Amino acid sequence: MLDAVTERIKANNARFRDANERIRGRADELGAEMERIPFLCECPVEDCVEILRLTRGEYSAVREHPRQFMTAIGHEASERPVGEVVARRDAYVVVEKSL
Ligand SMILES: [Zn+2]
Repeated sequence: MLDAVTERIKANNARFRDANERIRGRADELGAEMERIPFLCECPVEDCVEILRLTRGEYSAVREHPRQFMTAIGHEASERPVGEVVARRDAYVVVEKSL
């Protein structure tokens, strides 16, 4: 049971991180007009479609740490047992995952 949850969290991490990296790349191409870029929530809930709006600086700060991910407020609960909240911001929560 725990393994299945852990596997799903891992798979989701990679999927959302890749998607968000592409969003950042696209935002870079478009130039810096957008203050906040719409990123995908990186929580493991399968049907989560929450959008998080982060500045480039905020996004980079999360991405600097390979084990850190951002989720919508309230979605951090679904990161248990592998995720631990390391920061809370107005628009999102940063979770560090021990995977
Ligand atoms: Zn979510």
